[in-house]
Amino acid sequence: MFNRLYIHIPFCLEKCGYCAFVSAKPWPGEIESYHELLLQEMRLAAADHESGPPLDSIYFGGGTPSLMQSRQVSRIIDLAAEMFSLSPQAEITLEANPGTIDRERLQDFRAAGVNRLSLGVQSFDDVLLRRLGRVHDAAQARHAFREARLAGFGNIGLDLIHGLPGQTLAGWREDLRQALALSPEHVSVYGLTVEDGTPFALRYPEESPEIPDQDRSAEMFETADKALVEAGFEHYEIANYARTGYRSRHNSGYWRRDGYLGLGVAAHSLLRREHGYRFSNHDTLEEYGRELASGRLPRRDQHLLTLEDALAEFMFLGLRLADGVLAEDFEREFGSPLRSVYGSVINELLRIGLLQQEQGALRLTRRGLLLSNQVFARFLP
Ligand code: SF4
Repeated sequence: MFNRLYIHIPFCLEKCGYCAFVSAKPWPGEIESYHELLLQEMRLAAADHESGPPLDSIYFGGGTPSLMQSRQVSRIIDLAAEMFSLSPQAEITLEANPGTIDRERLQDFRAAGVNRLSLGVQSFDDVLLRRLGRVHDAAQARHAFREARLAGFGNIGLDLIHGLPGQTLAGWREDLRQALALSPEHVSVYGLTVEDGTPFALRYPEESPEIPDQDRSAEMFETADKALVEAGFEHYEIANYARTGYRSRHNSGYWRRDGYLGLGVAAHSLLRREHGYRFSNHDTLEEYGRELASGRLPRRDQHLLTLEDALAEFMFLGLRLADGVLAEDFEREFGSPLRSVYGSVINELLRIGLLQQEQGALRLTRRGLLLSNQVFARFLP
């Protein structure tokens, strides 16, 4: 069962130097053909899986979903409503690159049913944007935001990245100031990771002096946290801040282990069956298209989670949230007290100050936030 739908759009105007996502520049007509494949996959998936309650969220991610035509987005939403049923209050998010939108396109996306926009701004520093290989500049990002408001979007998120090559703390403060000046409903703050196989990995080898070190990155994270919290944002997940009532419902569902169906190249899914059934799609357009052309779902791998897998996921996904993990939720989900399963790990993490317990909820401490991967690793089977 699932109540969330993710649609992956693997196309971008240009490949950014740091990007490890599955995305490429489309050939003429390629987005239309891919759109038809998505519809076909949705029909096959609907015949294969029970959806459960009406969809509560649809998320168009990528890549650059704003390269799609609004009629393509509209057809996907309409077919989802027909195949799985769609809650009238569903959150429907589209990720947009500021270099790909104008007022008319935004109005058309809004009319198609998109009610939340996630703008990939990353920085307001043109030198850094060029270094990243982004196709937009800061003026376009500001303009895109204002146009989105005028097009009727009352729920807009901005993505920012810190730890960029050559970025200073003062520059990062200025990025935050400019982001806040736009008054978005949601801000995501990511630290740059230089992924193997990207042009950045060659340009900035490990411990490159141009990339801010761990201490500087931690300082940037603290600076963002202070600025956003002071501006009235709620820090509800490690990298995510929202005004009251504007948490991303779709992404919150991932951290709560709601069932979701992912469609498209390299998309991942979790269905709520037994302890959880995870599967992912082929990660090349060729294989993805070939399977669908043969009438098969384009699955690359699939596995049923063991109880140990599900316990660990519940902990390391739940601890990402500021609400933390509630012992009663754990017991309701698994029928065993939290302490009977993880008592010694929890005691150790409390003792060394990476976790804290308050009003029945287990949460990361400030230090735990900075060392979250070490905390999560302790819950792995
Ligand atoms: S726009 Fe996003 S998905 Fe596309 S290449 Fe740049 S970072 Fe990757």
